[in-house]
Amino acid sequence: MSDYKLGLDYALKQDQNDTLRPYRNLFHIPKDKNGNDLIYMTGNSLGLQPKQTKSYVNQELDDWASLGVEGHFEAKNPWLKYHEFLTEQMAEMVGAKPIEVIVMNTLTANLHFMMASFYQPTTSRYKILIESDAFPSDKYAVESQLRHHGFDHKDGLVLWKPRKGEELLNYEDLENILEEQGTEIALIMIGGVNYYTGQFFDLKRITALGHNHGCIVGFDCAHGAGNVALNIHDSGADFAAWCTYKYLNSGPGSLAGCFVHEKHAHRKDLNRFAGWWSHNKETRFNMRGEFDQLPGAEGWQLSNPPILSMAAIKSSLDVFTKVGMEALTEKSKKLTGYFEFLLKNLGEDFIRIITPSQPEERGCQLSIQVKNANKSLHHKLTEAGVVSDWREPDVIRCAPVPLYNSFEDVYRMVEKLKAILND
Ligand SMILES: *Cc1c(COP(=O)(O)O)cnc(C)c1O
Repeated sequence: MSDYKLGLDYALKQDQNDTLRPYRNLFHIPKDKNGNDLIYMTGNSLGLQPKQTKSYVNQELDDWASLGVEGHFEAKNPWLKYHEFLTEQMAEMVGAKPIEVIVMNTLTANLHFMMASFYQPTTSRYKILIESDAFPSDKYAVESQLRHHGFDHKDGLVLWKPRKGEELLNYEDLENILEEQGTEIALIMIGGVNYYTGQFFDLKRITALGHNHGCIVGFDCAHGAGNVALNIHDSGADFAAWCTYKYLNSGPGSLAGCFVHEKHAHRKDLNRFAGWWSHNKETRFNMRGEFDQLPGAEGWQLSNPPILSMAAIKSSLDVFTKVGMEALTEKSKKLTGYFEFLLKNLGEDFIRIITPSQPEERGCQLSIQVKNANKSLHHKLTEAGVVSDWREPDVIRCAPVPLYNSFEDVYRMVEKLKAILND
């Protein structure tokens, strides 16, 4: 940490020594009116487009043009099993076994399908625990699940809150909640990395705590996938879901990932919403037989999936596989540590970083609170060519993404912030 230095020279030198530097050229970097690269700090919201994605998608368009329906079998990447081409790499990405991972649907939809199976409330155990600053979609999803089962969503929702005057969540508080209400809680569903604070939770610890109290434990890993080493299998979590358009650079609204722990792979007692794609592949097209459920996460699919979206995911996963999560997180820690160093140098009187300072407890995002700031600060940053994200009341979220952001990006971003603050 203490090795970081001020000044542009230091940033340029770090970029020169960065073995991942060539990867930036594999991405389209959005430009300003004059054709200069914008400082793109919102890969946590929508990841940038890998240049090769166009050819991956075009391959499928071409096969569709020339083969029509035969593309299901005859395409270069036969559509019938296209999702299988993604499974191993996606499993590797989140630290899971292939049987535990499937790419399907969208994120909130997957959370609902997982809850259809894993939220089975009884009159005495029916509550759902989430973090108090959960992503709104997750909150709405669990509230609607409570109502769907006939419970009052206010009574049924248990919030894990930060202590007064703090933003980050404390594990002792979770332990206390579970001591007090554990027997009433059916499901714990937490964002693996909180979208607002950037806090990366100890998934294993939360899962063990939940399981000790007889709760099912699931994670929303939207801000974790492609950002941190999730090791979902080892966490022991029952299920997880994540989108692919944030750190996974697979395009707006692209399909989502879903994890179901191996221990549930062959269970037939679980309630599930099924479709023809949940059915045994060998007999799927016989069309008239009894439902024969596929084992593993694949058995939660419903529909034949959108190939064009999966082609974009394949393109992105090929980039990630080349880099490897280990090299990626190593650079990420350096780059975000450097960002933190420069921000702190601006003066801790008016800049406060609410993201944890321990590298193990965060990914690349820093959530920055600027004293007396309002949304005009965000406008000024945008005008200065910095693409960042404003969250009411006073937080700027910035994510230097190790795949395509440089030390120079970070340096220039902080210089621009400094100029605005001194204005
Ligand atoms: C981005 C995000 C979502 C968005 O859900 P979609 O169903 O993909 O629109 C939901 N939850 C979390 C935690 C997110 O970060």
